[in-house]
Amino acid sequence: MTYAIVPAGGLGVRMGSRRPKQYLRLGRAPLLVATLRALGRTRGLAGIVVAVPEGHVETTRRLLARLRVPRILDVVAGGADRQESVWRALQRVPERAARVVVHDAVRPFIDAALVARVLAAAAGGAATCGMPVRETVKRVKDGAIETTIPRQGLWLTQTPQAFTRALLWEAHEKARRDGFAGTDDAVLVERLGTTVVMVPGLAENLKITTPEDLQTARAWAAPRRRA
Ligand code: C5P
Repeated sequence: MTYAIVPAGGLGVRMGSRRPKQYLRLGRAPLLVATLRALGRTRGLAGIVVAVPEGHVETTRRLLARLRVPRILDVVAGGADRQESVWRALQRVPERAARVVVHDAVRPFIDAALVARVLAAAAGGAATCGMPVRETVKRVKDGAIETTIPRQGLWLTQTPQAFTRALLWEAHEKARRDGFAGTDDAVLVERLGTTVVMVPGLAENLKITTPEDLQTARAWAAPRRRA
């Protein structure tokens, strides 16, 4: 059985809006709903646990019920950072779950084929998707280049990421014990010394973080709606 976790507990500080960005509109529905609908098209997905900011749990439950978003298992209160939000959602994933796919609420442009690819790659352990770095990478300090990092072998990681439930649990437990904070789930598994497979993601798998990203997403979503 496959379950999904969607961390949507961020307050969207970089978006600069009063409402957290996952509740801003993309087309006719909130961004969170667009992402959940895309993820809900995954074949064989048994349920989705969504982590939202504390204080948004009840309103989100009602919103998802009213819009009949499929496969929602539960909405839980997220934590202070993404990792804590995923951990809290993981508590609600049934023990019978063989695999768990984790996908950011702010990445609506995924398709079922991508999720299936990542899940297949994670069959025995862990996988993520991403894109090879095309630009030349510089480390910058005080407005000037400190060093150039050879891009050979560098990838930008995306979500979805998929894991066996046991491995994701163990990885989070170890990170908590060690006081390690990661910005994705793959890094927690890497710390166990376990292989994480990387599969090609999608160029259009935009992570909506700033107002400019939201503008781009709205421009992309408009022709899709008309089509
Ligand atoms: O900005 P960041 O990379 O942390 O956001 C990635 C995802 O993690 C977003 O969907 C955001 O809502 C979520 N998040 C969360 N809980 C937090 C912070 C971010 O679920 N406390």
